[in-house]
Amino acid sequence: MQGNDLAAALDAFLARHSDELIEFRRDLHAYPELANAEHRTTRRVALRLAAVGLRPVILPKGTGLLVDIGSEQDGNSERPVVALRADLDALPLADEKDVPYRSTVPNACHACGHDVHTTVLLGTGLYLAEQAASGLLPGRVRLVFQPAEEAATGALDVLAGGGLASVGRIFALHCDPRLDAGQLGVRSGPITAACDRIQVRVAGPGGHTARPHLTVDLVYALGKIITEVPAALSRRVDPRSSLSLVWGRVSAGTVANAIPDEGIVEGTVRCLDDEAWHSAPDLLKGLIDSVASGYGVHAELTYRRFVPPTVNDQASAAMISAAALGVLGAGSVVHTPQSLGGEDFAWYLESIPGALARLGTRVPGSAASLDIHQPTFDVDERAIGVGIRVMAATAINALWDDGAIVAQPLPGVTGA
Ligand SMILES: [Zn+2]
Ligand SMILES: [Zn+2]
Repeated sequence: MQGNDLAAALDAFLARHSDELIEFRRDLHAYPELANAEHRTTRRVALRLAAVGLRPVILPKGTGLLVDIGSEQDGNSERPVVALRADLDALPLADEKDVPYRSTVPNACHACGHDVHTTVLLGTGLYLAEQAASGLLPGRVRLVFQPAEEAATGALDVLAGGGLASVGRIFALHCDPRLDAGQLGVRSGPITAACDRIQVRVAGPGGHTARPHLTVDLVYALGKIITEVPAALSRRVDPRSSLSLVWGRVSAGTVANAIPDEGIVEGTVRCLDDEAWHSAPDLLKGLIDSVASGYGVHAELTYRRFVPPTVNDQASAAMISAAALGVLGAGSVVHTPQSLGGEDFAWYLESIPGALARLGTRVPGSAASLDIHQPTFDVDERAIGVGIRVMAATAINALWDDGAIVAQPLPGVTGA
């Protein structure tokens, strides 16, 4: 089923299920759960999926779940699975909205729209289950309800648990209050940024400030690292990657006339492309060592990965775009800029192709400029039906599409 038939079938499904799904989202909104504590949310989703005969599998840590819909076998050929992903967790913020479904949990709020993502994926699953039961689903779709996106660890837990086994392509939506409900923002290439943390610890023998030449002038050397490393970095990578290092904390010494034997500086590393992200740890280590050795101090770099940039594969971005046009109509798909925020969906795209798109949630015509991660964030709930249309059509088109038949690793993307 394609094109108009699919749009009509989705209309009929939504006419029957919209009220229930909006209620479902409001319930999640009223009972938000933080990263790795999404037990109630997991249970509610699992029960609803089980009620239509699906067999959800809860992830090993007890929150988050996977469910497969349809058959993987198509004749004799094994086709890769198409995965659709939602995230379940809320943010540690107080809900400042005055709505009946306002959060009932102190300091927990679905201010990033993950309640919408969860509901969209649940609705998509209910629709695809109907299709599969009627023999109309041309392959297998895996729904990935991952925990802990805000902690940037949930995707890694799904990967560690084998959640992408047999998956050839993966798609996700994220709420975007800068787009109207009814619109989808699509982009090929990087759509979110990388953000990592570093700590540099310098050490030397210490000594009297009267005799820096007999020891190592540690605070001076730390100052050189602080100013010279970010400057050198900007000359060592393509400026279009926007690889930047900004320090946030520094400490060394206890008294004016003693050279300390240790100092620490910490900061964040951000960048817009995957190649720069991969090269950043080695590059920084080399720069820090070369500055430190000039002053005789020993420098130790601790580089903590948070998330890579989310790099949408071109074919997958084209699939979600075509699917959305087919079920939402002309003018619904718009180009979206790269965000400087991080998104742990990026981890999936380090191993398989896929795409993340922006789901418009602004009330059309509204002058309000809401943003995600604000305590007043809310959505036009018509976005739920829009998201279900897009996800269902994308999965079905990707299963039909020849491009989805060959499971392949993501080629060396970026920097194009
Ligand atoms: Zn968020
Ligand atoms: Zn989010």
